[in-house]
Amino acid sequence: MNSTKRIALISVHGDPAIETCPLPPTPCLLVEIGKEGAGGQNVYVRNVGEALAKLGWQVDMFTRKVSVEQELIVEHSDNCRTIRLEAGPLEFVPRDELFEYLPEFVDNFLKFQVKNDIIYQLVHTNYWLSSWVGMQLNKIQGSKQVHTYHSLGAVKYNTIKNIPLILSQRLAVEKEVLEKAERIVATSPQEHQHMRSLVSSEGNIDIIPCGTDIQRFGSIAREAARAELGIGEEAKVVLYVGRFDQRKGIETLVRAVNKSGLRDSNNLQLIIGGGSTPGNSDGIERDRIEQIVNELGMSDFTTFAGCLSQDILPTYYAAADVCVVPSHYEPFGLVAIEAMASGTPVVASDVGGLQFTVVHEETGLLAPPQDVDAFASAIDRILLNPEWRDELGKAGRKRVETKFSWGDVAIQLSELYTQLLQQPAEEAELLFAK
Ligand code: UDP
Repeated sequence: MNSTKRIALISVHGDPAIETCPLPPTPCLLVEIGKEGAGGQNVYVRNVGEALAKLGWQVDMFTRKVSVEQELIVEHSDNCRTIRLEAGPLEFVPRDELFEYLPEFVDNFLKFQVKNDIIYQLVHTNYWLSSWVGMQLNKIQGSKQVHTYHSLGAVKYNTIKNIPLILSQRLAVEKEVLEKAERIVATSPQEHQHMRSLVSSEGNIDIIPCGTDIQRFGSIAREAARAELGIGEEAKVVLYVGRFDQRKGIETLVRAVNKSGLRDSNNLQLIIGGGSTPGNSDGIERDRIEQIVNELGMSDFTTFAGCLSQDILPTYYAAADVCVVPSHYEPFGLVAIEAMASGTPVVASDVGGLQFTVVHEETGLLAPPQDVDAFASAIDRILLNPEWRDELGKAGRKRVETKFSWGDVAIQLSELYTQLLQQPAEEAELLFAK
């Protein structure tokens, strides 16, 4: 194997090998996608890894082992695997409590290299925790670093009340990596702008979006999807998919659906998809949302679908008339492009990456975040006009096909990695000496 085409993707807290939700009654020992410890980052790392492998890269995806039962290495394809390193207790640890275990992660990464006679000249880190790991690898062995934030502390904590103690550490690491990494990957022009205005004016940023599986999403028609899920033809289906987190704005969606003109038509259905664990922060948020649903008398037409596997998700998106992404903030928002790829229009908050993916009045509608009335009227406009719904859906599908497939994203990343690996070491050192 040509060593110049080897890449380590590092995702300390989001395991790329976790791709589906276990079927009940399988006890859930691990985090699942759509729950507190997992979400878009897992999906991003796994899909980028697999698509890069198809382009000839040897891809090793490093994550933290969270239970004794977990395999150390998961082979995804001939040249793509997930490698789990020990760092801290062998159990789920919330991401805000992981920083102290990162030195152990770095040690075990270095041991893995020695044991396998590999030195990773290039690492692509994900989220600020992994960025710290990447910066250590740069100091220790000169590994070049590409970094994707997935979430920026400076933006996130603008919109929430309970600020964790770890924030100052996070902000410092996020600034350092922006200024020192070989390249930062912003997933939308909006994220790029936030990096510049809120983090630092120094550092090299490229914009390469997130992607989605355009074969998987869009593979089933609305009628067939509804038949599979037992949803009637006349139903007006409003869908949410994602984690239970206050920042995701599910409360806004519930209150908006309560104000819908179709509220008492007997046809309205609200489906809320996403996993949660009782007692964890996502379980607490789910209970809170369920309580609001009950208080508003909406339980008859609201379903909590639980954690939806990537296999069943295309069916839910296709069955829906509209998918709502009511986040207070979203650096990219995979759910929006998954719905669009499925031919379903999106009503989203007019923030962050959603302003990039959702084209207002063309592929869906944008509404001010937390504005219940604006969400209610945007949802109703689509529910009341099935022809327009289909037009928006078709335009969304087209937009995703041309801009957001994993294959295209991987080609752009591959070009970036190749360019960095060809860059002479001295030039790289000069950059780091800045
Ligand atoms: N997801 C899933 N099952 C669920 C809920 C969410 O597979 O029950 C996936 C969803 O399809 C998407 C990801 O989790 O790929 C969420 O990514 P997004 O960027 O929308 O939000 P994040 O979790 O990164 O904040």
